[in-house]
Amino acid sequence: MVDDLEYTKEYCSTCEAEHTMLDGGDIIDCMIYYRNNVESEEIKKAREDKVEIWDPVTKVWVKKTERYKNAV
Ligand SMILES: [Zn+2]
Repeated sequence: MVDDLEYTKEYCSTCEAEHTMLDGGDIIDCMIYYRNNVESEEIKKAREDKVEIWDPVTKVWVKKTERYKNAV
C-alpha cells in the first residue's frame, strides 16, 4: 500500500495557503510551497543572481549566473 500521507494538502494557518505538511507542518513547508507556487520567475531569477560560487581556477567568488554563462 502506498503511503500518500506526505502528499496530502492541508490548510496552513501560518501562510494561509494549502500545501503539504510534513511532520505536522513546518515553516520549511511554507517556504517550499512559496517557492514552487507563489514566487514569480523574476524573483526566482533575482535570487539566483545573488548566488555566488567559488571558482577554484581563478580563486574568486563568481556569480552563479556568470559562471554558467562562461561555461556555455
Ligand atoms: Zn504554510
